[in-house]
Amino acid sequence: MPSHNRILYWFRNDLRLHDNPAFAAAFEEGREVLPVYVFDPNQFRELADIGVKKTGIFRTNFLIECVADLRNSLRARGADLIVRVGDPATVLAEMAKDISASAVYASKEVTSEETDQEAALSKLLKPLNIELDLLWVSTLYHIRDLPFEIAKLPEVFSQFRNRVEKYAQVRALDITPDQVRMPAGVDPGELPTLTTFGFHVETQDFASLQGDVRAAVPFKGGETVALARLKHYVWTSNLLRTYKETRNGMVGEDYSSKFSAWLAHGCLSPRMIYHEVKRHEAELGANDSTYWLIFELIWRDFFRFVALRYGTRLFKSSGIKHDIGKKWRRDTDLFLRWAEGETGIPFIDANMRELNASGFMSNRGRQNVGSFLVKDLGIDWTWGAAYFESLLVDYDPCSNWGNWNYVAGVGSDPREDRYFNIITQATRYDEQGAFVKHWIPELSNVPAQKVHLVSQLNRAQQNEYGVRLGDTYPMPIIDPAKWLKK
Ligand code: FAD
Repeated sequence: MPSHNRILYWFRNDLRLHDNPAFAAAFEEGREVLPVYVFDPNQFRELADIGVKKTGIFRTNFLIECVADLRNSLRARGADLIVRVGDPATVLAEMAKDISASAVYASKEVTSEETDQEAALSKLLKPLNIELDLLWVSTLYHIRDLPFEIAKLPEVFSQFRNRVEKYAQVRALDITPDQVRMPAGVDPGELPTLTTFGFHVETQDFASLQGDVRAAVPFKGGETVALARLKHYVWTSNLLRTYKETRNGMVGEDYSSKFSAWLAHGCLSPRMIYHEVKRHEAELGANDSTYWLIFELIWRDFFRFVALRYGTRLFKSSGIKHDIGKKWRRDTDLFLRWAEGETGIPFIDANMRELNASGFMSNRGRQNVGSFLVKDLGIDWTWGAAYFESLLVDYDPCSNWGNWNYVAGVGSDPREDRYFNIITQATRYDEQGAFVKHWIPELSNVPAQKVHLVSQLNRAQQNEYGVRLGDTYPMPIIDPAKWLKK
């Protein structure tokens, strides 16, 4: 018989206690709440097409850290986080039944794998007479506050932004609970390690591996580190005040906020960022940079609502535009050269090597490697998106697949179908070649004016700069001369 005072709370991509409206709703009116996280082995399967795991080692490690941090926070509030590995719907339905819960509460997701899980759970709970209550959590603007229906979502980002800025308000923060009452007697379960998911390295060993000294951010999962980074970025370092000028940078920790991995896992609430920025503006004054950080969070919202509106189209080669006429190449060799950072185009390779070594790449880098794969090599963009999904520590299905739709020209906004001239980009955003040399030390003696076009070095120059094309650095897979003509 379900108990009306007992709720099972299913943590998903909302791994935080601050400003979590779904979790706050669960323990209203003195209820007992059982907080649960379920690692789904399906998320760690091998992707046959491109030969990588769906969730790679960087994000897996980050996720385990997020869950560990949440468990510590709940323990400090008199409760715990129940951890399991298995099919979420089956595990949750059984557990809800065992504790006689009246309902399962969780945050609402919008992409197909996540909504399939919601449907499967709902089906199992129904005969048990247990409700499934899914609440909106993830965006800056609450879905109910949008000044249009999702079916009428503006196709162009600027129209979306203008309308939400004019007609919607960002809600106040939900309260962080200081006590959580939970039913007794449930085995908390052990945290999994990397080996649980088939990685051949122990979590502890990985922690030292992770410290690639060249990485932009030594990302550590969890709400505690996320809130510390927010404080550092907005207050202690004042980096926020120069964000607009530095955001296109590529080397180091501070050119952009680096909030993305915590946002993607829900360790950081976008509304929390917004209200901190507003507080900063009230105390120290607003400028273009303080606004621009919010502007980028609105892009994040846009992609989430795009995903909701277009459903599974987001993941198909034809894209949300449903462009079935476009033909894509599926050339594994070329794709692997791209993925491994062996194209012979230094700006592309440096970005891909950064991704492979650290699980992160700047926004400028993502735009360029995406454009190169899709527009210069003509490779199926869904392979690129799937590769990013595996590698990125900040992978978010809406932002990743949404941005790739735009890069591939199958997004909804016709003005976003842009081609990137890689050499123009490289010389503008890495004028001194510092980024390229950072990730491709084989090129460190090549002068700045030549480093983006190493394939044009003659034999004598190669000797002088210690590079042997085709040996210490690959020959280019396409002739970069085409970028010089444009
Ligand atoms: P900042 O510049 O400090 O921006 C602040 C926040 O705004 C980011 O953390 C992010 O949440 C949001 N944001 C900024 N730019 C975008 C954007 N173009 N789209 C959506 N949100 C944005 N971002 C992800 O969070 N996850 C992804 O899986 C992802 N995949 C991408 C794939 C491609 C092909 C491209 C071109 C972009 C992708 N982005 C993705 C967007 C963007 O590159 C990252 O959000 C950003 O580089 C993260 O660094 P940051 O937190 O320092 O960003």
